[in-house]
Amino acid sequence: MPEQKRIDCLKCIHFYVTWDPKLPKGCKAFGFKSQGLPSQVVFSSSGKPCMHFAAKPSR
Ligand code: SF4
Repeated sequence: MPEQKRIDCLKCIHFYVTWDPKLPKGCKAFGFKSQGLPSQVVFSSSGKPCMHFAAKPSR
């Protein structure tokens, strides 16, 4: 079984909150909305960890 890396979308510049109660989390890089973390959707559908993570600049 491949190792599942937990990529924290909340720290990624591509992550956004959609305000859609059914699909509250969104990824601008991949262009989809999801119920859970987008990186988990990417992993479960592709079998690979997200390669587009880009850390938000620290304030
Ligand atoms: S690019 Fe990857 S890490 Fe960033 S929000 Fe999308 S799925 Fe998450």
